Amino acid sequence: MFHITDHIVCFRAHNPSPMTLDGTNCYIVSGRTAAGLTNALLIDVGPDEPAHVAAIAAYLREREWRLQGILLTHTHRDHTDGLESFHRLTAAPVHAFKSGYDHPLRDGDQVALGDRALVVIHSPGHAGDCVCFYDEREGVLFTGDTVLGVGTSVIAPPEGDVSAYLDALQRLKSFPAKVIAPGHGPIITRPRAKLDEYIEHRLMRERQIIAELQSGPKTIADLVAEIYKEVDKSLHRAAAWSVSAHLERLRQAGKVIAEADQWRLR
Ligand SMILES: [Zn+2]
Repeated sequence: MFHITDHIVCFRAHNPSPMTLDGTNCYIVSGRTAAGLTNALLIDVGPDEPAHVAAIAAYLREREWRLQGILLTHTHRDHTDGLESFHRLTAAPVHAFKSGYDHPLRDGDQVALGDRALVVIHSPGHAGDCVCFYDEREGVLFTGDTVLGVGTSVIAPPEGDVSAYLDALQRLKSFPAKVIAPGHGPIITRPRAKLDEYIEHRLMRERQIIAELQSGPKTIADLVAEIYKEVDKSLHRAAAWSVSAHLERLRQAGKVIAEADQWRLR
């Protein structure tokens, strides 16, 4: 566990992998009520890992904080699998953009928390139900898997959408965040530079795909082999998802067409 600010702590689950980096980051945000009590929100519960779930529950119990709710940045399993175990310890309702949870989240909602509130920002791209949360008072933007501490987010079709993602990144820039607290990886202390880097990275991949197709039709595997030749082979599956998400965006823009498994410029 480590502090992001006086009111925000991070619990990192022990589920490292190439996709989850050094584990899923879960955050407790606390606010003081008018009656002088402390309420808390948990952003993502992480995997169903007994030590991780117990550590979060113990932290709240020792301080006698009331867990007001659980907010989900999206519903991929590395962020949600611990919900059931957590439910045995607390009755806190679960808020998510996707239906089927206790409370729906919508873009622009404000989740009140004592003397502060978290703004809900719908940020589809990595998944359709991705949301970010902005704590105005602390200047902290919680991004889930929309922005990661290191590397880039996986955009896998059909759910992943590069155009929606670029719009979301652009919108996130309008929040004057001092810090980004991502779903995986270290805290980001230069939010604007990171968002610009993320946008530029996507546009660069798109330029690379167009440049490759200039020499003739290619399959997704051909494009991955060329564009990601410096990248470890274990990540080529995710790279293929990303290339196909970009091709889909280019197809919708009328710039490329697919014939069987070959893609070419129009
Ligand atoms: Zn994740």
